[in-house]
Amino acid sequence: MNFENHPCFNAKAHKAFGRVHLPVAPRCNIQCKFCNRKFDCVNESRPGVSSGILTPYQAMIYLEEVFKQKKNISVAGIAGPGDPFANPEETMETLRLVRAKYPDIMLCVATNGLSIAPYIDELAELKVSHVTITVNALETGIGTQIYSWVRYNKRVLRAEKGVEILMKNQIQAIKKLKDRNIAVKVNTIIIPGINEDHIEAVAAKMSELGVDILNCVPYYPNKGSSFEHIKEPSKEMVKEIRKKAGAYISQMTHCTRCRADAAGLLGDIPDLLLMKRLQECEQ
Ligand code: SF4
Ligand code: SF4
Repeated sequence: MNFENHPCFNAKAHKAFGRVHLPVAPRCNIQCKFCNRKFDCVNESRPGVSSGILTPYQAMIYLEEVFKQKKNISVAGIAGPGDPFANPEETMETLRLVRAKYPDIMLCVATNGLSIAPYIDELAELKVSHVTITVNALETGIGTQIYSWVRYNKRVLRAEKGVEILMKNQIQAIKKLKDRNIAVKVNTIIIPGINEDHIEAVAAKMSELGVDILNCVPYYPNKGSSFEHIKEPSKEMVKEIRKKAGAYISQMTHCTRCRADAAGLLGDIPDLLLMKRLQECEQ
């Protein structure tokens, strides 16, 4: 396994190596106010309509086809369109199947971090080498402006209670992932008027926790979400925030806000016909 070939964690690799996302995780365990569930998870993806959900079995056929069509795919990831660990059976089964068939491919997951902890030991056994966690706030007062609710241990928690559990679990998950020697990227969505002045503090804390790279992702207005009135951050704002955050931790600046079913080089779109055909299969 060559970590240098991960197109998202290594800017030098993104023009030569691609990734495939397996969209096996439709449900989510939190409600971000910028999210409209008809769209892909903004944790890791551009808000384009999700083209489909695959079962773990369908995902394996899809993967085989993608390998035939696209060269130099170095990593297979699960990034929604909901949260991988709100769908743990589908996520873990898919990772097991992929690892059994492709012992050398890099595996990756992107999550909000709420419910990943119980799976980290098995992720390490499966040689999942890269995990992305979206951390938008470290302070309760900011978190309550971003999240409507959190579902944890079968209970829906609103306001401070939900946000505090989410933030606590994210920090614990990052520590545990680093203990298992897994590379961690943190995504932080820049939401103007909400967390723009807080991102430097996020960068400082992530650096202290040993996070490998921080991806400050410009918020993208999502129709139908509670935040649809908020405008995208300006290029200057994004540049300034990345500069400040860069004093603490390496910055990812080549993110293309890719979809939960992306395949190929960053920015490539998936084979929608194949996705549709697979969904018509029974299994
Ligand atoms: Fe890259 Fe994120 Fe996909 Fe992993 S889940 S391959 S970090 S885009
Ligand atoms: Fe939407 Fe992703 Fe947030 Fe879940 S974690 S609410 S799918 S943006």
